Amino acid sequence: TGFVDLRDVQLAYSGHGTETLALDGLTMAVNRGEFAAVVGPSGCGKSTLMKLATGLIRPQAGTVEVAAREVDGPVSIAGMAFQNPSMLPWRTTLQNVMLPLEIVQPHRKRLGRERAAYTQLAEELLSVVGLAGFGAKYPWQLSGGMQQRANLCRALIHDPELLMLDEPFGALDAFTREELWQVMRDLHAEKGFTTILVTHDLREAVFLADRVFVMSARPGRIIVEHEISFPRPRP
Ligand code: ADP
Ligand code: ADP
Repeated sequence: TGFVDLRDVQLAYSGHGTETLALDGLTMAVNRGEFAAVVGPSGCGKSTLMKLATGLIRPQAGTVEVAAREVDGPVSIAGMAFQNPSMLPWRTTLQNVMLPLEIVQPHRKRLGRERAAYTQLAEELLSVVGLAGFGAKYPWQLSGGMQQRANLCRALIHDPELLMLDEPFGALDAFTREELWQVMRDLHAEKGFTTILVTHDLREAVFLADRVFVMSARPGRIIVEHEISFPRPRP
């Protein structure tokens, strides 16, 4: 059993009198500390898989476990950066990055006393992704790519044990994207969290991941699992 463990999961969306079977018999295990990538055709259920593992939705059949516990609500040890940065326009970038600290226990309790330390961490993270000095700007003053980078900082601010990334680099130009790959690899090696990355980019998957999962077209399930075993430079 993995740190993230989905077994025989079935998930159907219903509405307007129709039913869409998004996942059928999906089984997948990601070990603690591993960097996993999930690839597959558009609509195969990758985002659905991410929502299941973070407890945003529940399966109709099968089991979803994170850290050996059945997922029955939002997974507080997870940091999430999904495709579209959803930053609050009336808060600065720094305040957006710190948002999970106001929501996720136990960080919420600590925020009062440790606001200065957390502010420093937020500024460090912004600097790591190339946004030093942009904390005081509002999200709508940033480009799409810059918002995506800030979104990544927000996913990391509460020191998550599990990092869930759904196409997090899509709005970045090729050069910035490859810089961010290196940043991700360094962060993963340094902090030791478990990562699941959804991507369309096979180069990205192979560069970043220890294990690549390939999904079939809808209804989605894992059809290939491949461990990337060639030696890669570790920071
Ligand atoms: P991917 O991330 O691989 O593109 P998704 O998980 O977003 O795939 O979607 C899987 C399937 O479920 C698709 O056919 C999609 O149209 C359908 N789907 C996703 N979300 C919903 C929803 N809220 N209601 C109905 N169908 C949905
Ligand atoms: P991307 O979407 O890839 O981040 P853009 O082409 O929109 O890039 O912006 C290119 C660069 O212009 C950014 O990386 C940043 O350095 C600068 N830039 C964009 N928006 C702003 C802003 N509001 N203030 C200062 N610099 C900015």
